[in-house]
Amino acid sequence: MKYLGIESQRPKIGVFDFTGCEGCQLQLANKEETLAAFLSCIDVVCFREISSASGEGFTIALVEGAISREDEVERIRWIREQAEVLVALGSCACFGGVNRLKNDFDLDEANREVYGDQPKPTLPVRAINEVVPVDLEIPGCPVSKAEVERVVQHLIWEVPFRFPAYPVCLECKQRYTVCVFEMGELCLGPITRAGCDAPCPAAGLGCWGCRGPAQETNFEEFLSVARERGFSEDEIVDRLAFFGGFRGIA
Ligand code: SF4
Ligand code: SF4
Ligand code: SF4
Repeated sequence: MKYLGIESQRPKIGVFDFTGCEGCQLQLANKEETLAAFLSCIDVVCFREISSASGEGFTIALVEGAISREDEVERIRWIREQAEVLVALGSCACFGGVNRLKNDFDLDEANREVYGDQPKPTLPVRAINEVVPVDLEIPGCPVSKAEVERVVQHLIWEVPFRFPAYPVCLECKQRYTVCVFEMGELCLGPITRAGCDAPCPAAGLGCWGCRGPAQETNFEEFLSVARERGFSEDEIVDRLAFFGGFRGIA
């Protein structure tokens, strides 16, 4: 791609999946109105979901999913060795995601219950940054493709990307959404990192915190509001644990 006669750099990108639902990869393939422009800026050398290319030599690795098997540990280490920049893509990769809920169970017992006498190899779920160093994390379940596009642009320009420091409530108010607390719903919007444009409250649902904690929040105030509104400790703890982003905080 040329701009003002100068050939811009097209980074070689590999997209890799681990334990997850592949919804984040699907997001990259969606949004057709920008797909051609996005692909013109990058050189996809590996992206199983949409391409037969399976080349090596990638400089940027976009990694979806959590680590939950020994072979995944080896593969993510190999990817880390090859990539100049490793980006964790989505809540599973950033926090362990919904998969992390399995860590609350006895895995041997669960294996026996589900697979009988043919148990499957499994490990407690870990986020990518619990196994190898990660350069950048793009949260969300799934990720916002617009945000991934902006991050990749910044990587090409070599300009740091800044995620919003404020919580989802701000974007919710920008949409004039009626607060779901008023409708008796629990919502993690006051403590969750913005950037998704608050689609869940706009649909009448509380936020489940898929983007993890915001930088600028008042956690104690959130707890006191949730308790005042009649939500039990179990309800609050379950909600905070759902995507794994609040572990260590709540
Ligand atoms: S973050 Fe959500 S959409 Fe992405 S792989 Fe995990 S479960 Fe699927
Ligand atoms: S619905 Fe949730 S995100 Fe929106 S203002 Fe209320 S608490 Fe904040
Ligand atoms: S509103 Fe909350 S749960 Fe919904 S997409 Fe945004 S961060 Fe995720």
